[in-house]
Amino acid sequence: MTDFCNALRTYAVAALALVMAVPLPLAAQTVVPPIVKAENLRQVSPHVHVITDGGIAQVPNVGIIVGEKAVLVVDTGLGMRNGATVAAAARQLAGARPIHLVTTHVHPEHDLGAQAFSAETKMIRSTAQEAEIARNGMDLVAIFRRLSASHKELLEGAAFRKADVTFEKDYALDLGGLSVRIMAAGPTHTLGDTAVWIDTDRVLFAGDIAMLGMPSFMGPQSSLGHWLVALDQLDALKPAVIVPSHGPLGAGEYLATTRAYLTEVRDRTISEKKIGWTVEQAIEKVTAAIGNRYPNNRLAGAVAAAYREAP
Ligand SMILES: [Zn+2]
Repeated sequence: MTDFCNALRTYAVAALALVMAVPLPLAAQTVVPPIVKAENLRQVSPHVHVITDGGIAQVPNVGIIVGEKAVLVVDTGLGMRNGATVAAAARQLAGARPIHLVTTHVHPEHDLGAQAFSAETKMIRSTAQEAEIARNGMDLVAIFRRLSASHKELLEGAAFRKADVTFEKDYALDLGGLSVRIMAAGPTHTLGDTAVWIDTDRVLFAGDIAMLGMPSFMGPQSSLGHWLVALDQLDALKPAVIVPSHGPLGAGEYLATTRAYLTEVRDRTISEKKIGWTVEQAIEKVTAAIGNRYPNNRLAGAVAAAYREAP
């Protein structure tokens, strides 16, 4: 398949996943504008503050990690207006300290507020995130723009911010009095999924890798096998608090439930493939077997990944 076809296929799947993940009322009529609310800021550990998502779709949980010498922000919100809210909250906590910025992945609500941060802000990206931006450009942004008038307005003039610092796998950032570990954890939800670990506080920003809901496979670039590897790596850290990129804060149980789900999907899919079923049939069979326990439209993507990777 050509790169172009691959890209098209990826975006067909991404568009579908997105539309399917959007609750019906959003598609039909009322949309809650995806606005980051500064009043949702709360401290979750000595150095870590989170602006929680308020339960609103396409609003991320935003992290602000405060050291003695510098501050790190995790995720920006969708577009300039949200980015400005996050930048202002970070500046308030940072005082005169320099601000660094990292995103859990390059999807619009996590990354496309970065332009609102001051020019001195240091943007940190994995090489996988950079490759993903180079490959996919603004394609997903076009899909987001069509979700509602407020999405369109928020994404006015949005562009990806260039990295000031790039890293391959692991990056240790000294904020003064605490070292933060930034980890390239993809390909999972995306190629460039990035986790952030604050060892002194035992807080983990897990992005879309582990959350209350079932994980979202975005197409052929998402790997179930690697997802399990990433879960093991994050579990080895023994986090006391997990801040997922959406939904309520949790702890190690998010890693355990995600692992149990993916392992079951993998094992069942391998069995169905061995019998000789096609991928569509395998999706049907696995959904019939466990769809009642996982009542969510993300099962098909996980089975498709397991099928691709099955021996
Ligand atoms: Zn995402």
